[in-house]
Order: sequence, then C-alpha cells, then structure tokens
Amino acid sequence: MFQHYRSPWMNEELDMLRATARRFFENEVVPQADTWRKQHYIDKSVWRKAGELGLIGVSFPEEYGGHGGTYAHDVVIIEEQARVCDTSFGYVPGAFGAPTTLILTGTPEQIRRWLPPIVAGEKLLAFCATEPDAGTDIKMLRTTARREGDEYVINGSKMFITHGLRSDLAIVAARTGGPGAKGISLFMVEKDKAPGFKVNKVLEKMGQHGLDTCEVFLDDVRVPAANLLGGVEGNGFGKMMDSFVKERITIAVTAIASAERAIELTLDYVKQRKMFGQTLWDFQNTKFKLAECVSLARIGRVFIDNLIDRLVRGENSPSAEEAAMAKVWCSEQQWKIVDECLQLFGGYGYMQEYPISHFLMDARIQRLYGGSNEVLKDVIARKL
Ligand SMILES: Cc1cc2nc3c(=O)[nH]c(=O)nc-3n(C[C@H](O)[C@H](O)[C@H](O)COP(=O)(O)OP(=O)(O)OC[C@H]3O[C@@H](n4cnc5c(N)ncnc54)[C@H](O)[C@@H]3O)c2cc1C
Repeated sequence: MFQHYRSPWMNEELDMLRATARRFFENEVVPQADTWRKQHYIDKSVWRKAGELGLIGVSFPEEYGGHGGTYAHDVVIIEEQARVCDTSFGYVPGAFGAPTTLILTGTPEQIRRWLPPIVAGEKLLAFCATEPDAGTDIKMLRTTARREGDEYVINGSKMFITHGLRSDLAIVAARTGGPGAKGISLFMVEKDKAPGFKVNKVLEKMGQHGLDTCEVFLDDVRVPAANLLGGVEGNGFGKMMDSFVKERITIAVTAIASAERAIELTLDYVKQRKMFGQTLWDFQNTKFKLAECVSLARIGRVFIDNLIDRLVRGENSPSAEEAAMAKVWCSEQQWKIVDECLQLFGGYGYMQEYPISHFLMDARIQRLYGGSNEVLKDVIARKL
C-alpha cells in the first residue's frame, strides 16, 4: 500500500502472495545484490527457489503447468521487486514476457513440453527478436531459417538479448518467407542442443546491471521442424504484436511501482537529513517537489489499476492504444519522479550504495524497450 491507497483489485489471497514475494526478494535477492550486478546475472539457484515458492508462472494456465492466477498475481510480484529496487531477477523478461509469447504462439504440445520447467525455475527462457539493423522496425529482421528435411537451419545475429547468456531456451524470430512482416516465424532453440547459438558478448549497460543483456550470433543453428512455434510459418510478427499489449502495460506497472518506492525512500531520507538548523523536509521546495511526485505517481497508479482490473476481470480488455498510453506516460513520469527524488538526496543520490541511484539508471531503458515511446505515440495517434 502506497500513501494510504489500496488498489481495487487487491484481495486477501494476493496479500499472502505479496508476503511470500517480499520474503523471497528480501532473503534471496537483496543480500547479494552487489554480486548480481558485478557478474551481470543472478544465480540459477535463485530462479529455482522462485519456482519452489510458486513465484514463476503465477498467471499461466494450470493445464500447461502454470499456477492459474490472474494478471494481478504478476503485478504483485513486480511491485515487490520494485520495492527492493531489484532488476537482477529478470521477472518481466524471463518469467512473464518470453513465456507469454510461448503460450500465445505454441501448440498445446509445445507449451506442455517447454513451459513446466520454466515455471519450476529449472529453465530460463530468452526472447530474441532485435537485431543490429532491426530494432523498432522489427519487420526488417534478416535472420533466416532455412528448411532442410526435418530441420530448420537458422543464421543471423541478435542484439540486446536479455538472459542471452544464462538462458537454457530461446525463442528466436527468423525469416522463413519473403520480406516484411508475413515472412517472420518463431522458433524454440534448446541451447544445449544448439552449439551454433553463440554469445558474442555480455553488454555493459548504464543500468540494470544484474541482467545479462547480450549480443548473440546464430551460426547454422539446427532445430527440429517441430520447434517451429505454432507449427505454421509466417505468424511470428502477429504473435509478437499480440504479446505487446500486456508487455507494455507491464512496463507501466514497473514504472509506477518503482516511482512509488523511490518517493517512499526519499520521504524517509528528507525527514532525517538536517541542514540550516532544520530537516530537508522542512523546506517548502522539498514538500512541493514531493507533492508533485506523489500526485504524478497516483495519477499513473489509477490509470494502470483500471487496466489491471479490466485484465483481471477479462472484460473490456485494454486496447493497443491504451497499453501504449500507459507505457509512454508512466515510463516518462517514472524518469521525471526518480530524477526529482535523486536531486533531494544530494551527492549521496549519485552514489551506488544508495538505491535511488539504481532506480534512476534502471529507469532509463523503460522509455526505449517494449516499443520506443516515439513509436508508441504513433500507435496512439493512428486511432485519433
Ligand atoms: C536493456 C535492454 C534489454 C533488451 N531486451 C531485449 C530482449 O530480451 N529481446 C529483444 O528482442 N530485444 C531486446 N531489447 C531491444 C529493444 O527492444 C530495442 O532496443 C528497441 O526495440 C529499440 O530498438 P533499437 O535499439 O534498435 O533503436 P532504433 O530502432 O534504432 O531507434 C532509435 C530511435 O529512433 C526512434 N524511432 C524509430 N522509429 C521511429 C519512428 N517511426 N518515428 C519516430 N522515431 C522513431 C526511436 O524511438 C529511437 O528513439 C532490449 C534492449 C535493451 C537496451
């Protein structure tokens, strides 16, 4: 609960999940936060622990080995992760985004084969779409998948792949047909059977240091034809677009949860920091700045709560434009709020030992990935 507000979709069961998630992040993730950031990945044992506690696949259908919850279950975990200022445990990419694409695209047999070990925390899934010359304009991707007998042979290169190094499985977008969106298909690559899946390097980022974001080469990667997701060629682009609505709302959820937590930390700090014979909180500037921040965060919260509520009820599902509005507005407010908060920490805010510095650096990417904010404004404008 943030500043005396409880989301309308919260209930007692979700309170219990929140308590479990809070213990998990506080006990398993936070104590080694520096290690994760330095090595650029979190140990597999943490994923397994999350699996044991039922914190992966919370909203995935039970028939496929998930826990049968709602989107609100994911949101609670994302909020608890934001509370401890963590981005090393790649919940959104690994436990939500990539598996959601598997569920949306795979045949029932494919989902039953690959999803349960992901839910158990035994296998980690990456999603490989972006290329050096195809980011926002993903339909221009050049990686090819050529059919040879009962196999496809995949060649190309991928850029900015989260979990590129530590994943066991990877969904790869590749061209099976002609140019444009209709020629794109999705494949499941089992990395232990694909020596041609090579990580060129783990990239050094300005934030989100605990995640292995990689440049990947696909050098004659052979996969059985049965690994073509959905069993049909050419549906990859459409399926990626389908998964974007929830992904963008999820980025907005992360944005607001992080902004709320940054405000809480800042309130605690300014109330104890003394100068000029008073606390930092006593200056009117501090009160006004935080009043503005809390107002922006609340406005964002009410909007995303509306979208979450509709997803949970399965009624009046959010449109692509609403998801774009949420992603654009909330990620921009996150950046603005966290920057104002950091300013109030003075020089300490610039120090890595203060979580607020990570909140700021981790926030910057939010305006870029999941569809850059510029392109999403186009999505909104097209419906005007
Ligand atoms: C930390 C991190 C993790 C990532 N994880 C993954 C992952 O796991 N899997 C994956 O496949 N990808 C991943 N990505 C890639 C991410 O989705 C892309 O970076 C993003 O799509 C933008 O593509 P780009 O970087 O090539 O930028 P570009 O497409 O080159 O964009 C550059 C600029 O041009 C602007 N622009 C583009 N088109 C238009 C337009 N029509 N109108 C106006 N302006 C425009 C953009 O808004 C942007 O400001 C990740 C990226 C990062 C940095």
